Amino acid sequence: MSIQNNYKEIKNQLPESVQLVAVSKTHPVSSIQEVYDLGQRVFGENKVQELVEKYPLLPKDIQWHIIGHLQTNKVKYIAEFVDTIQSIDSEKLLKEVNKEAGKHNRKIKVLLQVKIAEEDTKFGLEIEEAKSLFEKFVTGEFENIEITGLMGMATFTEDESQIKKEFSVLKNLFDQLNQTRKLETLSMGMSDDFPIAIECGANSVRVGSAIFGRRDYSI
Ligand SMILES: *Cc1c(COP(=O)(O)O)cnc(C)c1O
Repeated sequence: MSIQNNYKEIKNQLPESVQLVAVSKTHPVSSIQEVYDLGQRVFGENKVQELVEKYPLLPKDIQWHIIGHLQTNKVKYIAEFVDTIQSIDSEKLLKEVNKEAGKHNRKIKVLLQVKIAEEDTKFGLEIEEAKSLFEKFVTGEFENIEITGLMGMATFTEDESQIKKEFSVLKNLFDQLNQTRKLETLSMGMSDDFPIAIECGANSVRVGSAIFGRRDYSI
């Protein structure tokens, strides 16, 4: 199947209310342009270096999302143009994003990445940490960021009930925080589990290999 057909097929499976983040990591600029030409504007990358190389070669109305673990010393390279950082996994990182956004006189949208998977390999905040960071944000501590939602990854497993359980934990937290201050984005679901994520309340999914094909190496 071609990238174009893959893309159309995924779009057909998504309700209109669900945002698609096309995860283009490891894939060339030409593939991104193909999907852009079909109307896609939101793309996700997980490496700063790779994003910084691709950014100048592609249309400026692309909304770039960082979805992978972000080191604080790399924030400065993307602060001017990144649309959303989905992978806020520490207060230190949030502070750095706030600081760098301020230097460019802008607000950067961020999602708090919450650890919901059983595997301990995944980055993310504990639920209580996420609540406390959100509380600080609501009381005005970070002027140059906007926490617009939550992101999470389920355990890599065939066990659907476990995946559902994990996604539901994040949906519950989302509903809870949403009562304090309106949130826009609940980002859960990847190529293998996005239908389950949507069932569990995701309104944004991050799909890579189902559009662009398999990556040569796993990240
Ligand atoms: C790579 C990646 C994705 C996309 O994964 P696919 O299985 O290729 O769809 C989604 N989210 C994060 C955080 C990723 O690193």
